[in-house]
Amino acid sequence: MPEVQGQGEDLDRRTAVRSILERLRPLFGPPPLVPDHDPVGTLVSTILSQHTSDRNADRAFDRLIARYGADWTRVATAPPAELIATIACSGLARVKAARIQAVLRAIPEHFSAAGLASLTALPVAEARRRLTALPGVGPKTASCVLLFGLGMPALPVDTHVHRVARRLGLIDPTTSAEEAHAALEAIVAPSEVHAMHVCLIRLGREICQARHPRCSICPLNDLCPSAQIQDTRDVRAAGKGVSRS
Ligand code: SF4
Repeated sequence: MPEVQGQGEDLDRRTAVRSILERLRPLFGPPPLVPDHDPVGTLVSTILSQHTSDRNADRAFDRLIARYGADWTRVATAPPAELIATIACSGLARVKAARIQAVLRAIPEHFSAAGLASLTALPVAEARRRLTALPGVGPKTASCVLLFGLGMPALPVDTHVHRVARRLGLIDPTTSAEEAHAALEAIVAPSEVHAMHVCLIRLGREICQARHPRCSICPLNDLCPSAQIQDTRDVRAAGKGVSRS
């Protein structure tokens, strides 16, 4: 029965998640999650972080706060040229300024007076669905708002999390990044969602890189169904004199 098979697969994947965290937590030691309880600020900073480094995004957010405070009505109604200049260091400032103002103006139309804080009363999937109804908000941005802004167990799936989760067999090869949000949340305990998010990003950035995963030094080598495939490629590449990064 497919349903039972699926449940068995989920159990195996939950066991794998526990083993993965046991190995990665001591290495990457994610700090405890401290939600900022400013979900609108988290939403704005997540938009600023698109297609740029964390450093540039943080600088742009600091400049925005220095100019407008955390007064999101002022940001929503600021002259566009002024806002673009304020966040210029984040790159794509014209696009991001328009996106920020559009979403800030849409929030009062979609939410009650309690604003985004009202999402804490909902299950994660429903809260994410409500957020993705806002203009320009995808599942990853929505999950960042829920996790970092409200402390809810939503697991943001960026390119690193998606790639590493597929290689580790935590999601099916055909699962899209969008679908991976719910798929991973189904196998990670709510209390471990933040640690799992941080650990998979760190592993993806530092070891399980897109083009040249460094399986030979990976702490998950013996657990990972992709390790042998990648190792074989490494041996073949070494035989052809191709250097590994
Ligand atoms: S063993 Fe290789 S493919 Fe698997 S997680 Fe580690 S680096 Fe990635």
